[in-house]
Amino acid sequence: MRAGGQRTLVTGGAGFLGSHLCDALIRRGDDVLCVDNFHTGTRDNIASLLGHPRFALLQHDVTSPLDVEVDRIFNLACPASPVHYQRDPVRTMRTCVLGAMNLLALAERRRARILQASTSEVYGDPEVHPQPESYAGRVNPIGPRSCYNEGKRCAETLFFDYRRQHGLDIKVVRIFNTYGPRMVVDDGRVIGNFINQALRGEDVTVYGDGSQTRSFCYVDDLIDGLLAAMESPAGFAGPVNLGNPDELSMRELAERVLRLSGSRSRMVHRPLPPDDPKVRRPDIALAQRTLGWEPRVSLDDGLGETIAYFRALLNA
Ligand code: NAD
Ligand code: UDP
Repeated sequence: MRAGGQRTLVTGGAGFLGSHLCDALIRRGDDVLCVDNFHTGTRDNIASLLGHPRFALLQHDVTSPLDVEVDRIFNLACPASPVHYQRDPVRTMRTCVLGAMNLLALAERRRARILQASTSEVYGDPEVHPQPESYAGRVNPIGPRSCYNEGKRCAETLFFDYRRQHGLDIKVVRIFNTYGPRMVVDDGRVIGNFINQALRGEDVTVYGDGSQTRSFCYVDDLIDGLLAAMESPAGFAGPVNLGNPDELSMRELAERVLRLSGSRSRMVHRPLPPDDPKVRRPDIALAQRTLGWEPRVSLDDGLGETIAYFRALLNA
């Protein structure tokens, strides 16, 4: 089907990634329905779209069934930061599982194509590095992160069962740590924490000894990857990793943020949260091969944009 001019539903559309996705879909000519319950998202994120003739907002919780006419569904509804998703873990699990079931039922009814925003957390604390899609992961089913990890794993299962059982046209993408403007200041995620601490002259809090690694993807690259995955051939369901393979330790990240923001904050150490993965880096060979996608924005450039965003927020 032709990209653009679709009726596209984005759940979690008022969140960090969802709002950037809505922007991109409006730019390409879609009619966009943003569904959100404002659990972690805000109206501010979509303020520039409210009133656009091809944009509509529906306040709705995906744990309840939904019936709308759509061609494409991006299912992003779910709190993504550990602080947010651990605050009410039962609610997180309900959003992952009931949300997936309700949206899959909608996709089946409308014969719509549906994409699930899954996560690198399905790999848990990995023993295989970097992580290819074929790696089944090492996930603790009973820890504080499990509501999210296992919820997202269950959602993947439901997506593939709907494909096998009902012939549904699904796409599953596994998103690795993504950052950029519109991240929530105090959601506890590392880039927001480090930048805001650095800009306020507060101590920069490195958890553990800071040797654990992550690989950060700038939001614009990630959105290009989501669009490419959604428009990939019908036979391709994934799962496919989307992320930037440029890996660094949290200590190096803190040093980078301090340098780029010109801050004189100190680096301090705080206890490492339980089950915190020691390494994380996507193997993106599949995305390169099947989607023709790879990230373009360097960490320094992306951090520069993000620092400028948070600086403007603080000054306002
Ligand atoms: P976010 O918290 O900014 O956005 C999530 C949005 O979903 C918010 O607007 C929130 O209000 C909404 N929401 C939550 N529960 C809902 C419910 N029950 N019904 C309706 N809306 C609900 O997070 P984000 O970073 O934009 O993440 C978006 C998606 O991408 C999530 O599914 C997340 O798991 C996935 N993801 C994100 C990252 C990342 O680094 N940002 C990494 C991996 C996966
Ligand atoms: N982290 C940190 N300081 C902070 C916040 C996070 O050192 O103020 C670490 C955290 O322990 C993890 C990494 O940064 O190792 C990424 O954390 P985040 O919560 O952003 O995402 P995760 O990848 O753990 O879901």
